[in-house]
Amino acid sequence: MATEKTLDDLFLDTLKDIYYAERQIVKTLPKMAKAATSPELRAGFEQHHTETEGHIERLEQIFELMGKTPRGKTCDAILGIIEEGKSIMEDFKGSVALDAGLVSAGQAVEHYEIARYGTLKSWATQLGMKEAAALLDATLKEELATDKKLSQVAITNVNQKAA
Ligand code: FE
Ligand code: FE
Repeated sequence: MATEKTLDDLFLDTLKDIYYAERQIVKTLPKMAKAATSPELRAGFEQHHTETEGHIERLEQIFELMGKTPRGKTCDAILGIIEEGKSIMEDFKGSVALDAGLVSAGQAVEHYEIARYGTLKSWATQLGMKEAAALLDATLKEELATDKKLSQVAITNVNQKAA
């Protein structure tokens, strides 16, 4: 009989999911920065690109804490979200609505990450993995701040221009 899977297995599985997702995101953010017409939005994507490199490092630290080799697991959700973002970049290229579209694509990515990091943090706490929980929380805070910043850029800068 197969051994029953536990929260540890689910945690590792989900860690692989977000590790895969982050490595896709780190490749996508420079393209979004390049596409942005608002300097503020571009700077925001660039800053978050740097932060995202840190997110990958934190995940690698967690794999290490668990005595595991960092490994991703294909995340269809992030691939879909990124694909939608690409479509927006293509379909709205050269239009006044492009930046608003980039903000929406960026927020979809952040919300996926927020969902994953929120869950992983609470599982880490449940499993008594204090160090991992702290690392996950540090990233979660940056994802939340990025989402908030994107909302602000949209309200103060991008949406009016697009209307
Ligand atoms: Fe991230
Ligand atoms: Fe992010």
